[in-house]
Amino acid sequence: MKNMLSASSNITYVKRRGVEFVQFPIFKKFEDVLVHCFTTRRGGVSVGECESLNLSFNRNDSRENVMENFKRIASALDIDYRNMVLSSQVHGCRVLAVTKDDRGKGLVRSSDIFGYDGLVTDQSEVALVTFYADCVPLFFFDSKRKAIGLSHSGWRGTVKNIAAETIRVMKEAYGTDPQDIYAAIGPSIGCCCFEVGQEVHDEFINAFSWSRDYCKKDVKGKYFIDLQGIIKKSMIDEGIPEDRICISGVCTKCNNHIFFSHRGDKGRTGSLAAIMQIR
Ligand SMILES: [Zn+2]
Repeated sequence: MKNMLSASSNITYVKRRGVEFVQFPIFKKFEDVLVHCFTTRRGGVSVGECESLNLSFNRNDSRENVMENFKRIASALDIDYRNMVLSSQVHGCRVLAVTKDDRGKGLVRSSDIFGYDGLVTDQSEVALVTFYADCVPLFFFDSKRKAIGLSHSGWRGTVKNIAAETIRVMKEAYGTDPQDIYAAIGPSIGCCCFEVGQEVHDEFINAFSWSRDYCKKDVKGKYFIDLQGIIKKSMIDEGIPEDRICISGVCTKCNNHIFFSHRGDKGRTGSLAAIMQIR
């Protein structure tokens, strides 16, 4: 099995206690206060199309396997899986501020969180968890207020600008100044592979006229969209300093031996997770 990422990248590949995940160097200097990762397929117990670190209960996988996978990634990060709060995503752009009272929701107890593609908190020992299989994971850390956020930005979320919405909710809830935010744009389907129809292309142009610069048309007239690039520009427009934004540059479909990829695996795949917690 290949181990190398095919693209040159701004991420760090980590293997700990048998679990493989990626981290972003931009958060390295905060590691005393901040836990974060984006998972890979590797290090879990699931089999078949979910081999092996599937973290979604809504895939072709058993509940026992998914629970064991959560325990393994939590152990690898030295956090308590019972402190995790799971999103319930709908390709929308709503972002929810959660607290210690929400710990365990969606994992060890039932959840009343539904229809939120982003989660934020400023409390320690609350582990945010969001899910992906080609969509773009966004990580936010307000270094001054010690607040964090994760959001799921697929093409719909990107058109709806969930990055801006996440920042808005952090401002409202915690008084975050975008100048204090460090952000990472994780592995997702890249411009190399994200082929879309005319109607999706047009939605981007209608939402952001400048997104033309991030849409390519090939010789056959097919459109390809650079979601990571569009999101980075949106973050800069919201006031995050450009040198505080880490863009992974990694394509999940090109690297579907490492990452679950909806397109790369023709819809039969598991789910990756972004995880973030203040210590
Ligand atoms: Zn690709």
